[in-house]
Amino acid sequence: MVALARQLLLTNADRPQQSTTGELVHGRRHWVFERTGKSCCRCAAKVISTLQGDDLYPRYTYYCPRCQPGPHPGH
Ligand SMILES: [Zn+2]
Repeated sequence: MVALARQLLLTNADRPQQSTTGELVHGRRHWVFERTGKSCCRCAAKVISTLQGDDLYPRYTYYCPRCQPGPHPGH
């Protein structure tokens, strides 16, 4: 996992588009990020998002219930 994180950081450092899938086509750059209600790019399950954090600094977390089973924020 550390090696993959390093590879993603280095790959995305020199270009304006961020991609975690390796694709640069709009809408296919992230597995689940900002895909609420759309299909997960890995398994096609419906992506879920939830707000987490305090009222001052809330943020959305996106996840696929099939690829990322287990406890989730807000549940
Ligand atoms: Zn998935």
